[in-house]
Amino acid sequence: MVSLLNLEGKVAVVTGATRGIGWATSQILAAHGSTLMLAGHSNRDLLDQRVEEIHSQFGVSVTGELFDVSDPDGVRDFYGRVNKLHKKIDILVNNAGILDDGLMGMISLKQYHNTFNTNVLGVVLNMQYASRLMSRNSTGSIVNISSIIGRFGNAGQVVYGGSKAAVIGITLSAAKELASKNIRVNAIAPGFIETDMVNQLPKEKYQERMASIKMGRIGTPEDVAKAVLFLASDLSNYISGQVIGVDGAMLI
Ligand code: NAD
Repeated sequence: MVSLLNLEGKVAVVTGATRGIGWATSQILAAHGSTLMLAGHSNRDLLDQRVEEIHSQFGVSVTGELFDVSDPDGVRDFYGRVNKLHKKIDILVNNAGILDDGLMGMISLKQYHNTFNTNVLGVVLNMQYASRLMSRNSTGSIVNISSIIGRFGNAGQVVYGGSKAAVIGITLSAAKELASKNIRVNAIAPGFIETDMVNQLPKEKYQERMASIKMGRIGTPEDVAKAVLFLASDLSNYISGQVIGVDGAMLI
């Protein structure tokens, strides 16, 4: 029997693919046979290195492209190239995101726009183009990376939390809109995961977060990637419009 986790013949796009959760996700999808298009932001050397690593470790077809997920022209051109190269897309992982915390009185317009442009507009633009390609074959899985903060909130994270709550709202509506085309849309809400994003937190905040994780350890990017694999694969082929927490029973 063919494993339901087998992704051979599928084409996956991962945004923010070069590090952290995106990199772990790219590796696990490739390990299960998926063809990959890695979407990086601005670091060409790192992207080229990641393409080479995926190719040599897993032997799958892989290419890398740089663009800003919030740039409509960049996103359009990228999906034009996906179409030219593969004629289809089966899996989209909307992982790219930024964290820029600040108490309410300190929120700047720049911080607000940057966060919402990347975390929200970026998700919508990628879903628009990817779902058009997915519609052609009446199949697809979109996985949006939200956050525990988007579900439960946290002091000092009005902007980030708002953007990640928007990702959940977008996921729920898109799941309903795209269901008739057999395109599933789900979200993952990671808790506290060891990546560059959390390594920038002040020491007290870091320790405070650690203390709130009932499983007693910080999450790894691979913990999140395993949930992405589940949602991307046929193991979850009747699951859409769901938000899965990957947080080690964190209380926030
Ligand atoms: P990270 O900072 O290592 O990765 C973020 C990635 O997004 C990077 O590769 C970066 O280049 C890319 N990116 C940022 N802005 C971009 C833009 N405008 N265009 C294209 N790419 C852009 O952090 P991470 O923890 O791996 O974050 C991945 C996702 O997980 C994010 O959406 C983040 O909000 C979410 N998340 C992380 C945690 C955590 O604890 N680390 C918790 C909850 C949710």
